[in-house]
Amino acid sequence: MVEVGALVSSIKATVELAKSAKDVNDQAKLNAAVSDIMEKLVAMQSELFAKQQENHTLFEEVKQLKEKIEKDKRFDQYQLEKTALGGYVLTLCDSNSSENHPKHSICPSCREDGRLSILEEGTYSFNCQVCKYTAKIRQVPPIRVSYPR
Ligand SMILES: [Zn+2]
Repeated sequence: MVEVGALVSSIKATVELAKSAKDVNDQAKLNAAVSDIMEKLVAMQSELFAKQQENHTLFEEVKQLKEKIEKDKRFDQYQLEKTALGGYVLTLCDSNSSENHPKHSICPSCREDGRLSILEEGTYSFNCQVCKYTAKIRQVPPIRVSYPR
């Protein structure tokens, strides 16, 4: 990783070199100084390019993190709730529910993957249609089979 401070120092040193080179009368010394300056400029150009690449990578990372944070905010309006049979669901807080946004529960398993999946509320359980997560609400009554006498 190229440090910006080192790059700035390098630029300053090259400028100083150029300043002192303009007072040189000896052609051989002048040629050497110009060659030295050119070499330093090429090195700085490649360092700047590396810096630009690095900035681009960081910029992309920040952008992705911001998007993730923004997406995760949707889950802030839900709270974890335990069903009577010990299953867990994330239920919309009362303060966030309204006529256009009725109370519902979402899948805690999908939430871990950053997905907001609304659970289907059945008579006996909450069911996720995406990952098949199930949270039991009440026991399914035993099936009574009556035989004809
Ligand atoms: Zn799910």
